Amino acid sequence: MQMIVHLGENSYPITIEEGAIHHIQDTIDTHRKIAIIADDKVPDQWVNIVADQCENAFVLRFPAGEGSKCFTQFEALLEQLADQEMTRKDAIIAIGGGVTGDLSGFVAASYMRGIDFYNIPTTVLSQVDSSVGGKVAIDMGSYKNIVGAFWQPKAVIIDPDVLTTLSSRQVNNGLVEALKTGLIQDPVLVDLFEKETLDLPQIITRSIDVKRKVVEADEKEAGLRKILNFGHTIGHAIESAYGLDTYLHGECVAMGMLFFIEDKALKDRVLKIYDRLDLPKVPDYSIDQLMHYIAHDKKSNRNSVTVVKVKSAGSYILEDLSFDQIRSRLERGPYEE
Ligand code: NAD
Ligand code: ZN
Repeated sequence: MQMIVHLGENSYPITIEEGAIHHIQDTIDTHRKIAIIADDKVPDQWVNIVADQCENAFVLRFPAGEGSKCFTQFEALLEQLADQEMTRKDAIIAIGGGVTGDLSGFVAASYMRGIDFYNIPTTVLSQVDSSVGGKVAIDMGSYKNIVGAFWQPKAVIIDPDVLTTLSSRQVNNGLVEALKTGLIQDPVLVDLFEKETLDLPQIITRSIDVKRKVVEADEKEAGLRKILNFGHTIGHAIESAYGLDTYLHGECVAMGMLFFIEDKALKDRVLKIYDRLDLPKVPDYSIDQLMHYIAHDKKSNRNSVTVVKVKSAGSYILEDLSFDQIRSRLERGPYEE
């Protein structure tokens, strides 16, 4: 199936289909000169399927991991584009997870003030969330995604078949972002997590459809798009405090969401889903440390932060909480109201 993200002249198609990576020419002009960028742990089999369909492409690999969303790697990729004499008419295809998409997208946004960017996400996290919306960025030390741009892709190709090579931990990690999307906007998507078998293509489609609508309403995050930050205020702080060796991004968001689900029955449902997905529930945290990162979050104001709360599946409220209120919320722990 295909959806269009309607953003005026920045509109683009998203294809969601098993086997879609075998016919990328449906949405990508494969005669163009193309740099295919992937980290070195994206399985060769997927990268080769894409490369083999392109007439004039070369493949650039970089070391896998969040650490590659850095200035050094950003510069190295730009240099390789220049060495290959890429011009403004040429294009980049990212094939990989959120790290590959965020880094390659920012390279595309920057090289010669911006060249065409196509995204072929290959992790659950990138297929349900990060590949759509045009946020591209690198980190600066412990400041996540602090240097970046809004650079919409020209097309996104989502093929659920490529997820077969992913570990179950990575699958479950990515599913958290889809559950998040359901909790704020789509009760049917939450129900899908309670079905006997998890229907990944359907979960991906519903999640991307919500993301598409939110991005269409608020491309540059002036308002509504903030709701996608549900679970992320505390989640990002946990991520910064521990580093990604302990918890993955989605796992941190899972822990962060529990603090702001304000209905006992819904929280019980969510906790059962966490059991099923083998997700962590409570970080062994120091509140001072988490407060330090919350205060330094780029989404925080001087003394407060806007948090997203969920009272029933599919509907959110936004609330400004002072740092003192956040601290006392942390002190009560995720299970207390
Ligand atoms: P990731 O990109 O690091 O991928 C996880 C691992 O899986 C990597 O080692 C990768 O090589 C490997 N991999 C990728 N595809 C595979 C496949 N099909 N089979 C086997 N292994 C595969 O991590 P992620 O969870 O996809 O993305 C996390 C990043 O996404 C973070 O940097 C986060 O900031 C970013 N993010 C961005 C947005 C956005 O809107 N731009 C939204 C959410 C998250
Ligand atoms: Zn996230």
